Amino acid sequence: MLDGYKTSQPIVYQILKNAIKDDKCSHAYLVETGGFYDSFNFIMSFVKSLLCPFNKLTKQDCNNCHQCEVIESGNFPEIEIIEPDGLWIKKEQLQNLQKEFNTKALIGNKRVYIIKKADRLNKSAANSILKFLEEPDNNIVAILMTDNIYSVLSTIRSRCQILRLKATKIVDESKSPIEKLKQIISLNNNSINSEEIDLKINKVIEFVNYYEKNHLNTILYTEKLWNEYITSKEETEIAYEIIINYYKDILNYKLNKPLEIFEVNNDIKDIDKNNTQEEICDKINKLVELKELIKYNINLNLLMDKLITNLEGAI
Ligand SMILES: [Zn+2]
Repeated sequence: MLDGYKTSQPIVYQILKNAIKDDKCSHAYLVETGGFYDSFNFIMSFVKSLLCPFNKLTKQDCNNCHQCEVIESGNFPEIEIIEPDGLWIKKEQLQNLQKEFNTKALIGNKRVYIIKKADRLNKSAANSILKFLEEPDNNIVAILMTDNIYSVLSTIRSRCQILRLKATKIVDESKSPIEKLKQIISLNNNSINSEEIDLKINKVIEFVNYYEKNHLNTILYTEKLWNEYITSKEETEIAYEIIINYYKDILNYKLNKPLEIFEVNNDIKDIDKNNTQEEICDKINKLVELKELIKYNINLNLLMDKLITNLEGAI
């Protein structure tokens, strides 16, 4: 129920509640989930309130009429949920959605489509969603969700009402950055020697700092900087996760937001100074893409060269 989020997400709750009450719903929302663990359920409870015929009459949270039940079961035809098919959200997925919305008669008062991980829209998919956003239909509400609104294309961002959820920290503040990282990468197997893990985490961060100072030259030193410490596929995946978190915190620093894992130091300040916001977002995106390749058994040495050249190309 939407009212269940009154205390955990007071601001966004009030915005959405008013939108329903005054019948002034935006045609497109971009929701920055900010790590809020229950963000999808929160959005679904809003969608339910928006579509429920009784809610409209009584202005009260309903949650138990037949339609609310159908929505809850995930079978309501006027709600479409789109998420990445593999690495990206593809153009065809949005074309199918448009076709469906254009041909089927509307049951009820509105249609809603939710795009999970809106930062994973590839260029052609982004173009077709833009057309959708540019010619809003009064009966259609778009909800785009992302961890970080700055990793969503600015052309999309500018056409949406932005809702930023309050983050709920899962990480214990009193812990050191290394302890927090260990919690996030959840080392749930014993294949990595726990005494070595601190060293490996430090080496990964050192590698990024070295790369940020030396750029393409880093390729000449990957043996010494990386290969000696990061040796398996599993370690490589974890290392990428660490780098992604590092850049995310640098982005937080740039946006004057509190850092989630790291503590501000001169390395972070330097990287912030030498990169624009777009460049950091681009780097995070490239890292997410490359991390996917690890699953497909890419040659790890090749991956290192790709990492450096791709990060460099991001500039
Ligand atoms: Zn209902």
